[in-house]
Amino acid sequence: MVEASADNPDTRQSLCGADIATLDDALRQAGVPDKQVKMRRQQIWSWLYTHGVNDFDAMHNVAKAVRAGLAEKFSLARLRVGDAQYSDDGTRKWLFRLHDGHEIETVYIPEAGRGTLCISSQVGCTLACRFCHTGTQRLVRNLTAAEITGQLVAARDALDDWPTGSASNSDARKITNVVMMGMGEPLYNTDNVIAALNVMSDGDGLALSRRRITLSTSGVVPDIARVGGETGVMLAISLHAVRDDLRDELVPLNKKYPIADLLDACRAYPGLSNARRITFEYVMLKDVNDTDADARELVRLLAGIPAKINLIPFNPWPGSPYVCADWPRIEAFADIVNRAGYASPVRTPRGRDIMAACGQLKSQSVKETAAAKKMAELAARKLQRPVA
Ligand code: SAH
Ligand code: SF4
Repeated sequence: MVEASADNPDTRQSLCGADIATLDDALRQAGVPDKQVKMRRQQIWSWLYTHGVNDFDAMHNVAKAVRAGLAEKFSLARLRVGDAQYSDDGTRKWLFRLHDGHEIETVYIPEAGRGTLCISSQVGCTLACRFCHTGTQRLVRNLTAAEITGQLVAARDALDDWPTGSASNSDARKITNVVMMGMGEPLYNTDNVIAALNVMSDGDGLALSRRRITLSTSGVVPDIARVGGETGVMLAISLHAVRDDLRDELVPLNKKYPIADLLDACRAYPGLSNARRITFEYVMLKDVNDTDADARELVRLLAGIPAKINLIPFNPWPGSPYVCADWPRIEAFADIVNRAGYASPVRTPRGRDIMAACGQLKSQSVKETAAAKKMAELAARKLQRPVA
């Protein structure tokens, strides 16, 4: 929920991003009788998520008294944009400031014929994968379902991507796909992520096809079947290593859920078929996981699982302990994967110049805190320096 903060003096709770239960509850609080709640919710749902309105008064078919009752207690305020950056390649990154001062990042990646929004599920991440910038950010809280959905609503606003705007023709839609690949581990916030995905994919509202939503997990085995069963979205697995000793090091969660258990959970993923494959992500780290033998083992491990393989050139960040595998090495690796029948496996890095590429997200609040710390240190040193 978007709530009041120092620079957002509106104390009303926002219904932007609300799910069905939250909207029903709001309608009851606004004095709507029980037997009218469903009808009113359906009307409001459509205004909110089909038309993208941000003012109760624009909801013409909702009785004036209901609109007034809602507006007394609730708003339709969006996530606040703290900053927006544009990459030379067209990628956009927004920093959203949450009501409690925490910040998250959301990235829009336009491509020929499609546009992908990369959404965050947590502030930071507790999992600390060694190659990931987000994993170095200790500050963590789970996002609410409304804050997760709110990223899609805010991005549609910023891109003028509602049917009433420039996107009146569905072919002209800018956001066609959503990936839960931003900050955080979505399956450490499973309840809220499921609730948000079901709002985003509701056919009477934001209406994203479930097959155009992909959730990426570092391997939280017990929640994999649940997210598939309750949302029907596509699954991506951050594999990155083919041996447990190396994966323990790169993705520490592997110590809890090793590769064999993870692949068993993949085989059992609801709805898995050749038309609905699991994507296996594999970050290419120079001299760490990039040999021909690794490639052959990858192909062997995934045999029998309807799969796509996505090789991700490592995206560096300040102080990162790895470097990206050399291009000839990535090509040789990709060749082995290709020959095993996996098409176009290398992911083109996007938005590297604005630190928007995979694994580069880390919110400004932390950077600012670090910058503020440095300033304080410098100031303290200056104070200690004897006057000449
Ligand atoms: N927490 C989830 C989703 C977010 S990360 C997960 O780990 O799957 C999205 C993808 O980017 C994951 O595959 C992640 O392993 C990868 N990634 C992280 N850091 C990276 C980096 N520096 N370069 C390239 N890919 C990275
Ligand atoms: Fe968290 Fe995913 Fe980054 Fe690992 S790769 S630290 S799980 S965001």
